[in-house]
Amino acid sequence: MANFNQSRQQFLEHLSQACEVNSDDPATLGLLVFDLLQFHRVNAVFGYEIGDQVLRSVMARVEKAGFKNSELARIGSDEFALLLRDVKDPKLLTLAANKLVRELSEPFEFEQRILRIEPVIGIAAKLGEEWDAEQLLIAAEKNLLEAQQQNKRFLTYSLDTKKQGYDWRFESALHKALSLNELNLFYQPKIHVATGAPTHAEALSRWIDSEYGTVGPNDFIPILEQSGAIDDLTKWGIHTAMREMASWPLRTDDRPYSVAVNVSTGVLENPEFPEIIKSALSIWGTNPENLTLEITEGALVQEEQSSYQSLYRLKDLGLKISIDDFGTGYSCLSYFKRIPADELKVDQSFVKNMRNDLDDEHLTRVIIDLAHRFNMDVVAEGVEDKETYLKLREFGCDYIQGFYFTKPLSQEKYCDWLANFDATKFD
Ligand code: C2E
Ligand code: MG
Ligand code: MG
Repeated sequence: MANFNQSRQQFLEHLSQACEVNSDDPATLGLLVFDLLQFHRVNAVFGYEIGDQVLRSVMARVEKAGFKNSELARIGSDEFALLLRDVKDPKLLTLAANKLVRELSEPFEFEQRILRIEPVIGIAAKLGEEWDAEQLLIAAEKNLLEAQQQNKRFLTYSLDTKKQGYDWRFESALHKALSLNELNLFYQPKIHVATGAPTHAEALSRWIDSEYGTVGPNDFIPILEQSGAIDDLTKWGIHTAMREMASWPLRTDDRPYSVAVNVSTGVLENPEFPEIIKSALSIWGTNPENLTLEITEGALVQEEQSSYQSLYRLKDLGLKISIDDFGTGYSCLSYFKRIPADELKVDQSFVKNMRNDLDDEHLTRVIIDLAHRFNMDVVAEGVEDKETYLKLREFGCDYIQGFYFTKPLSQEKYCDWLANFDATKFD
């Protein structure tokens, strides 16, 4: 029987029992953890009731597909776990994942509307005694995350069982790089639509390592968040961004640039954070209004009360607050009344789809209009082509960011890019 409301912890207990029973058996225990791409938008567009119905229908369809010796549970809002016992060959798990994708790719019908669901799956297999339930679940969830990042339908367990485990070497090399000041900031412009000028930029961290290559923030920020080192990264990022901005080639109108730094919500809760910012502003002689802190909407919704208080304290310093990835975080409309923000960044998922999907175009337009009514500037991120840029300009979007102008660039390359910038090339 599928379980619609099992917590991750309850599922873990269940999985532990399955691991114990299975410990001497050469047959493999397989785990497919999957979630539904863009599911938050089903809730946003159709409401939670339909959202729940969709989730139940997904479970019913998986049940009906008849995976042998299997158990299905919902272990997060749109995260499911399919446990497969007595798998004779781990390769069969790939087949099971294919079957799952096929079954769920058939459209669903709700209230005469056709809905398409795209699952993304992380696969893990218990290949020997050394794996316990928690490691198995973490391995599957990690593969799920990687599959999402790599735009894959699923990512399978590694045949080298060691790789399924946690890469401690990566973590310790990362901490060392941070403590030795070896991380970098890359910059991507936010083009001011009214003047066509790159007046603002967002700072994005990169770790360039001889062994691991260029590592993006999605791969190391979560590690720093979990280990508590995110405060150090943020402090470093704020100082570095202001220091580097001071040496960019002058703007044609001689006014100062403005730089944005991403801040994890955990950092907002550090009572010393406002002091850290104040001292950085004074060291680099930056006017507070030329510093923006970007905070993701999802994170704010989770910790609404305390985050808002911290945001108000930061705003008192005179800097700007930007809500990143707006539209993905389950916030309700009354949010606009309370949020102490100066800027909204429309999430890339809407912007990227605008050309192909009229719903996304409508949503983007509504977000722009709403934000303006509440005196916020709007940035559209993920703009990759001229058509989208022109449309956003027509909709009154204030700033545009995306590969259409440039990918994020190292400090050196960004200085060259600014020096050679020609707005007429983009019109
Ligand atoms: P974000 O703040 O939403 O940043 C935008 C991300 O979208 C960046 O990815 C950027 O490279 C990418 N991007 C920009 N334009 C386009 C486009 O036209 N098409 C596509 N496909 N992608 C585009 P990046 O640099 O990998 O950063 C990922 C996320 O990591 C950021 O999302 C931000 O939330 C976080 N992050 C980055 N640096 C830091 C940091 O120093 N501290 C913290 N806490 N988070 C950071
Ligand atoms: Mg950002
Ligand atoms: Mg964003």
